[in-house]
Amino acid sequence: MDSRKVGVLGGGQLGRMLIESANRLNIQVNILDAAGAPAKQISAHDSHIDGSFKDGEAVRQLAKSCDVVTVEIEHVDTHMLEEISSDVTVEPHWKTLRIIKDKFAQKEYLKGHGVDVAESVDLEGKSEEEFKDVGRKFGYPFMLKSKTEAYDGRGNFVVKREEDVGGARKLFGERPLYAERWADFRMEVAVMVVKTRDGVLTFPTVETVHEDSICKLTYAPPRKVTRETAGKAQELAKKAIAAFEGKGVFGVEMFLLKDETLLVNEIAPRPHNSGHYTIEACPLSQYDAHLRAILDLPIPESGLRLREPAIMLNILGGRAPDSHVKIARQALESPNASIHLYGKGDARPGRKMGHIIVTAPTLSAAEREVQPLIDAVDNQKG
Ligand code: ADP
Ligand code: MG
Repeated sequence: MDSRKVGVLGGGQLGRMLIESANRLNIQVNILDAAGAPAKQISAHDSHIDGSFKDGEAVRQLAKSCDVVTVEIEHVDTHMLEEISSDVTVEPHWKTLRIIKDKFAQKEYLKGHGVDVAESVDLEGKSEEEFKDVGRKFGYPFMLKSKTEAYDGRGNFVVKREEDVGGARKLFGERPLYAERWADFRMEVAVMVVKTRDGVLTFPTVETVHEDSICKLTYAPPRKVTRETAGKAQELAKKAIAAFEGKGVFGVEMFLLKDETLLVNEIAPRPHNSGHYTIEACPLSQYDAHLRAILDLPIPESGLRLREPAIMLNILGGRAPDSHVKIARQALESPNASIHLYGKGDARPGRKMGHIIVTAPTLSAAEREVQPLIDAVDNQKG
């Protein structure tokens, strides 16, 4: 299909699903990650690189081996990407990755482009008294967040009362922090946006349900959301992503407040957990769209529509090392469940080990079919 080679920093489940898509088009993807990483397991060629995507020399080597470099994770060294961008195309743009990887800089940038975000205050280098000032300003609870290296709730702390401030500061050690006003949302929603050389397109709006700050479920379409609100979420997501340079798919997480207004929570400059459903439920998946966007291949907009309602259930590591396997086995009995296991080997409680997609002609039929699997996940919780 295309003789250009794609290089990816990171070879976890997102890289793996990107390769599933690239394989169908005969597009070669070179992964930089540890030997045996999930993405490498399903791609047999000798141009993968064993090493860390945080290692400059390894990133240079990857750049030499391909035509377009992309990422499956934003916690990368953007100075390295800036350096290699004189020899190879980097998508999305390293400037975009640099802004987004710092969650506070990301919010300031979005605010500067007229995108509504939760109110936040910089706390880097601030004293305990200044933390308490934030509590007085925002009220309790408020959210304390690490600016960098945050994912799956690792990096967030809910400060419930003034007495918690000292402990919360210690917990984070030297990590750069900011505070965010509590968003009293009625629902979380997300939209996958595709940025091409010609503009921005979106997949449908989905509802995301988090438990302990980790995505547990997504519902496409969202439950109890009007068409108008779902459309507004797509428009806000488009506006947010149009503000950045570069191509590829972006996940936009949003809070839907009780008065139906929307705030952007955060952006991921890559395929995203809330877009896994697109593999089964849309003509083109988020991975197809990412590859096509970074290679300037055609993306018919109607290929991003929802063909059938779908629910995604994450399979996390549970209390036993094989808890996730038990859930996957139970899902084998479910006629409309597609099972994805990521090949990660050892499970840890809370680690993303796989996911299940149930599609059905109606969302309520999908809900009925997925419920026993949700119960199984709850039973296996670590
Ligand atoms: P992560 O990078 O871990 O996904 P997020 O900032 O998206 O971090 O936070 C994870 C989850 O925590 C969100 O999906 C939401 O459920 C909750 N959360 C985050 N920020 C706030 C906030 N300001 N108010 C209320 N809940 C929040
Ligand atoms: Mg998040």
